[in-house]
Amino acid sequence: MTQLLDGKALAATLRSEIAGQAAAFAAAHGRPPGLAVVLVGDDPASQVYVGSKVKQTAEVGMRSVEHRLPASTGQAELLALVDALNADDAIDGILVQLPLPPQIDAGLVLNRIDPAKDVDGFHPVNAGRLAVGEPGLVPCTPLGSVALAKLARADLSGLHAVVIGRSNIVGKPVAQLLLQENCTVTIAHSRTRNLPALCRQADLIVAAIGRPGFVTADFVKPGTIVIDVGINRVPGEGGKGRLVGDVDFEAVAPLASAITPVPGGVGPMTIAFLLSNTLRAARLRLGGL
Ligand code: NAD
Repeated sequence: MTQLLDGKALAATLRSEIAGQAAAFAAAHGRPPGLAVVLVGDDPASQVYVGSKVKQTAEVGMRSVEHRLPASTGQAELLALVDALNADDAIDGILVQLPLPPQIDAGLVLNRIDPAKDVDGFHPVNAGRLAVGEPGLVPCTPLGSVALAKLARADLSGLHAVVIGRSNIVGKPVAQLLLQENCTVTIAHSRTRNLPALCRQADLIVAAIGRPGFVTADFVKPGTIVIDVGINRVPGEGGKGRLVGDVDFEAVAPLASAITPVPGGVGPMTIAFLLSNTLRAARLRLGGL
């Protein structure tokens, strides 16, 4: 029997734990943890993501402050907003939704965020801390991916994990977290040779590619844990789009020992860990509860 790794259910459990901890924080400090979410432009997917993040932040009893800026916003204006949020004592976390319009250098903006408020974990200081194993803020999607893998098997030690994708947002931090779990980690990417054969050696596959149904049955030996990070919109019935992952779920699920669905797998976990990171940032800044 293949185990379906239900990210929606696990995220709900995490959110209820976070709500209790956020209430304790508010009682101790006279204010709840605060998250600022910055959206530039009107990308429809980004609007949906930001809407969910803001709604769920409020649902766990934290304060969220939304800054929606027009697509024409200049770099200096956005940097000035980041500076103001960095200086705002009631803001513990700052999230700048990607992608940013072409006139803005995303790297420059992300690097301007105070590493102590970097709840996305994208700042080089936090990436460096993760690489050397020091406490810091870790990217949310990788945290969610590894938490789901641990739902399949609490001790991942000694497993051969193949991570497909080497982005700074998903692939590299997932690989770092799996190293910390004592996996033997292979990072595969667009130049990797003979990827299906490499993946057939894996006990755990994390797919973060951005190509619908890329991981087929040919990639998977029986018993593999499969974590599908991909979110791809493809044409669906009645002209409506539908979301699919990077894994051909129908073909791979019968072979896997455990697999995440899309939607309802890694996606909900990402937002749960954003809330968790906001609470963590607040505690690190103010201390204690
Ligand atoms: P990216 O485009 O930055 O990176 C994709 C990676 O895939 C690259 O490192 C590239 O080398 C690799 N790749 C591309 N083609 C390949 C091929 N033919 N063979 C092997 N490797 C190949 O994307 P990203 O930001 O890392 O996101 C990856 C996917 O995860 C996307 O579908 C994205 O939408 C999704 N995503 C989901 C969440 C979530 O919350 N679930 C969060 C972030 C990203």
